[in-house]
Amino acid sequence: MAKVLVSDIIHPEFINKLEEIGIQIDYKPNIKNDQLFETIPDYDGLVVRPRTKVTQELIEHASKLKVIGRAGVGLDNIDVTYAKEKGIIVVNTPEAPSASVAELVIGLMISTIRHIPLADSSMREGKWIKSKLTGHELKDKRLGIIGLGRVGSIVAQIASAIGMSIVFFDPYVIDEYAEKLGVNRVNLETLLKDSDVVTLHVPLTSETYHMIGKIELNIMKKSAIIINTSRGAVIDESALIEALKSGKILGAGLDVYSNEPPTDLELFNLPNVTCTPHIGSETLETKERVVTLLAEKVIKILYK
Ligand code: NAD
Repeated sequence: MAKVLVSDIIHPEFINKLEEIGIQIDYKPNIKNDQLFETIPDYDGLVVRPRTKVTQELIEHASKLKVIGRAGVGLDNIDVTYAKEKGIIVVNTPEAPSASVAELVIGLMISTIRHIPLADSSMREGKWIKSKLTGHELKDKRLGIIGLGRVGSIVAQIASAIGMSIVFFDPYVIDEYAEKLGVNRVNLETLLKDSDVVTLHVPLTSETYHMIGKIELNIMKKSAIIINTSRGAVIDESALIEALKSGKILGAGLDVYSNEPPTDLELFNLPNVTCTPHIGSETLETKERVVTLLAEKVIKILYK
């Protein structure tokens, strides 16, 4: 019988799913490091969240280990290279939140272009500023997607149902994939110049760090908005504040920031910003999907 150690807090449904098919689970979400090192040789699988540090030293002790499962996305706490060297498969669930993030993107787009935060706060203050809240439709507008991966592709599908025309910039996506989605490839400059809404869906890398700065914001239309649900540092926040204050762009919808939680509140006090506290994945459905997908992946490896 395969044995799996869960060393961080996880939804009980994950444990049920593995036990249902006869895997023995030891659930020890508060396990101390010395105990982890002592017991790891007994296990075929290890399931973690960010708390447990799966270092090279720990992997060296894990003589039977076939799979390391990470409930969620980030793998910073796991020495993935060394695990691979040892033939241990590392699995995570980056696809679990894609639909939730994409829906938040649409929410931020509508919220920003229709001034919903300002409409809401003014009502709470007893004001009726209807004529100051004239917005725009999204129908027949151009959406520029930077990064056509999991989230970007779902955003493209929902936005085309709203009636937007879609262009994208992503040098790593093949033409056949884009054609199937019905989106047109352009270079970054054209995307920034022609789009009414620009939305960012790239990972944070040395290539994408501050990929939207002063120069790029200057290229955008004055009537355009920018949405960022990817990683805060993809946008140069000082340049964004400047562009929003000077009217170089119309507005921004943000879920991610260069410092989280942010300490400088200047950005959030601008009237043309919709901001949410990194809640892209924060839905019940994402949590359920993490459990189901991770259980499927771990089971597949243990029984292959
Ligand atoms: P993904 O890996 O599926 O897609 C990323 C896409 O970006 C890929 O198609 C890749 O080719 C493209 N890309 C990489 N470098 C690029 C570059 N320099 N220029 C243009 N395109 C480039 O990732 P995903 O699951 O769609 O996630 C997208 C982003 O959303 C990531 O930054 C992720 O961290 C973030 N995210 C945020 C939340 C949230 O809660 N707000 C939740 C999940 C994911």
